[in-house]
Amino acid sequence: MRCPLCGSPDVFYSCEPKCCFNHVCSDCRATFEPVTHATGSTRRIARPEEAPDASDPTAACARCESTHVYADDDGVAVCLDCGAVLDIELTEICPP
Ligand SMILES: [Zn+2]
Ligand SMILES: [Zn+2]
Ligand SMILES: [Zn+2]
Repeated sequence: MRCPLCGSPDVFYSCEPKCCFNHVCSDCRATFEPVTHATGSTRRIARPEEAPDASDPTAACARCESTHVYADDDGVAVCLDCGAVLDIELTEICPP
């Protein structure tokens, strides 16, 4: 996931799933929230070997609300739990 304003990949998740999906860009301090849309297709991805850090960028699956959404090798976002292929849209973009 990249900052929608400056394009930096240095983005971290500043809250927790039971509250909101507010992310902060380390470079320009902009904040935004990712939302997902199910594309209708599914695929299976391998569970990452390392458990993600709590501050890693994340989003909730549009279909099952799991936060186990990962980018596959080709950059496509996939829900690990239900296999939904997701489009990620960045909303609530607040410039610093
Ligand atoms: Zn919050
Ligand atoms: Zn930025
Ligand atoms: Zn899901």
